[in-house]
Amino acid sequence: MDYPIKGFIETSFSDWPGKVVAVLFLPSCNFRCLYCHNHELVFLPEKYPDFPLEEIVKNLRKRKGWIDGICLTGGEPTLHPWLLPLIRYLKSAAGLTPPGVSLGIKLDTNGTRPEVLQGLMGEGLLDYVAMDLKGPLEAHRYASIAGVPLGEEGLARIQASIQILLQGPGDYEFRTTLVPTFIGEEEVYTLARRVRGAKRYTLQNFDPRDPLDESLKNVAPFDEQTLRQMQERVNEIIKEKVASSEFQVSS
Ligand code: SF4
Repeated sequence: MDYPIKGFIETSFSDWPGKVVAVLFLPSCNFRCLYCHNHELVFLPEKYPDFPLEEIVKNLRKRKGWIDGICLTGGEPTLHPWLLPLIRYLKSAAGLTPPGVSLGIKLDTNGTRPEVLQGLMGEGLLDYVAMDLKGPLEAHRYASIAGVPLGEEGLARIQASIQILLQGPGDYEFRTTLVPTFIGEEEVYTLARRVRGAKRYTLQNFDPRDPLDESLKNVAPFDEQTLRQMQERVNEIIKEKVASSEFQVSS
């Protein structure tokens, strides 16, 4: 099977908390987030050559014992029907890890394909998931940040993915890229309350260097101190006790 992998970073210390990973970039996305930095991968994946999987596997074998796992990012990896066979292949490939150690797989996702997420988790193929929360969980607000029409049905899919992670046994984080003109501090805390009980909810500062929407180059990110305070507050909120009645899909 062909796997059009469009990017390969041999070693990353920042993509999976506490792990050293290789990163594979998969093409295309069903969102058009205005702050996206990978927009060429989203819009013009054909511009990039494919990285042959055999070469990637050879590279990983050479570094056996050094790499804990692989981060699959994009683009939106869950769009591809070949994601499942790719992960099965990586998990079963010989010689990527020392004896008795399994290769970790981390998936980055925008949460629009809950059925894919559920299927992969159900098969025990994911060791860590990072799911974006783009903004307030209202269809029009979410769509305005994601850059595509979403509707209530689309929002319900995001909500379903949130619940899969909150209620599943696996390890994961939610994360939000903070563009000050898109989301306010109180709205971040509202999102944090929605995922109360989550293992992690990470705030990422917006990087104005190369966004899809060039007008965002003029938007100043949150300053570091504000960002730190917001992260501390978010950490407090997600640790608050969750009433069992709140473990329900809300829209
Ligand atoms: S979800 Fe948004 S930020 Fe992520 S790759 Fe797609 S367009 Fe870019």
